[in-house]
Amino acid sequence: MAFLEDADHIIKALEQYYQSSISKEAPAIDQQPLAELIENLQLASHVEHGDLTGDRLAEFIYDYLSATTRLHHPGYLAHQVAVPHYSGALASLIDGFSNNTMAIYEMGPAAAGIEFFVINWFLKKIGWTPTPLVPTPENEPVGGGVLTHGGSLANLTALIAARSKLIPNVWLEGNPGNLALLVPEESHYSVVRTAGILGIGRNSVYNLETDARGVVIPDRLAATYDRLKNDGKQAIALVANACSTGLGLYDPLEEIAEFCQQHQLWFHIDGAHGFMAKISDQYGHLLKGAEMADSVIIDTHKLLRTPTLCAVVLVKNSRHLDSAFQQEASYLFHEKDQPGIDVIHRTVECTKAGLGLRFFMVLAALGENGLRKYIDQQFQKTMQVYEYIHQFTDLECPVKPQSNILCFRVKASDDVQIQIRNKLLKQGDFYISTTNFNHKRYLRIVIMNPQTTMDDIKQLLSTIEKMATESV
Ligand SMILES: *Cc1c(COP(=O)(O)O)cnc(C)c1O
Repeated sequence: MAFLEDADHIIKALEQYYQSSISKEAPAIDQQPLAELIENLQLASHVEHGDLTGDRLAEFIYDYLSATTRLHHPGYLAHQVAVPHYSGALASLIDGFSNNTMAIYEMGPAAAGIEFFVINWFLKKIGWTPTPLVPTPENEPVGGGVLTHGGSLANLTALIAARSKLIPNVWLEGNPGNLALLVPEESHYSVVRTAGILGIGRNSVYNLETDARGVVIPDRLAATYDRLKNDGKQAIALVANACSTGLGLYDPLEEIAEFCQQHQLWFHIDGAHGFMAKISDQYGHLLKGAEMADSVIIDTHKLLRTPTLCAVVLVKNSRHLDSAFQQEASYLFHEKDQPGIDVIHRTVECTKAGLGLRFFMVLAALGENGLRKYIDQQFQKTMQVYEYIHQFTDLECPVKPQSNILCFRVKASDDVQIQIRNKLLKQGDFYISTTNFNHKRYLRIVIMNPQTTMDDIKQLLSTIEKMATESV
């Protein structure tokens, strides 16, 4: 059967790919010019002949993988995208093959069952009531959630729920015109973009005041909120980071939550990257107070070793998500006599992949303990690197890290930082990113790879030092 043969080619190529990545035989990054790449992969020819199978497929996969950015390489330190556990990758294969679009139960009972289970696992980790199998009476709220295609969509989904809570008839009548959003300066662009999508407007995004590290100052919340009210606005939600994208720092959730409760504000936590440090004994305290939020989002394709992509929207009261989109689509939403539940009324998406399997297979292969250990190790390594950097008189960090994200710079101009990154990427042994903070350019590493050791980082830093002296 052609399938088994082709699949065999692919699995063998991937194994070789993995080995040459972790052994650093192949570079972490090697960007071939676009035209060359299209030519080398013989894309047009394969389409013309319809021949991409057997030996030609084996050759093609080899060429394709040669031109990838290798996340499994210990020098991959650039972004928050997970170095996927192979179980998650196999789940992507199963999901692609079965193609069960499970937003309606009948199109994917197994995938829907896994989503239900996974959502409840997350709800329990926060300390919220999981969704029972049998619906509860209206006056007994339970937690709920849905999986979405990415954190940006997850933020949007949660904030749509927040808006519907504040303005129950907004779906029929539109925005009242004085809606606003409270957001830390250091928030992910998808949060601010939500204000545009929801018709709140960029000018009605009120930035929460932050300290020198870019972390929200609880004592200054009232000042911003007073300004908002004096402008005649009403806030659909207050958003906090757990953790921020650029520097990886956590906002003080407990104090923020107390403020939100006092003022009956919907509290949304953007926990795309760092929320699941909650399961760590050592770092769980960073999430203290998270259970007081109204909604949380988490990307499992970041700190939870899952291939792209699988994001989680969680709400303390499931009814707020159920009434987020009040829309008629009777062929999908009619009262069905079926043994499971649909989730399509909770999502922006209509066709939705069986995202839960990707995360579930990682969770079930590593166990919760395995994931906890991974998070602890990555965070610990990052703290170690921070301590180590102190030895270098020509390097400086803007803040002490709280997660696996670390920023630093050579004591030189912004241009020098950019030049160093460009040189590193050209060399290919290390792939790092940069970020802007307080009007300065920083080099940025995210230690995602379980294979990255302290020795790898030491090598990176001495390479950077050498490059810095060359460029001065
Ligand atoms: C990555 C990230 C997002 C966006 O998630 P995507 O899955 O890339 O859409 C949102 N917020 C924060 C804090 C993030 O780190």
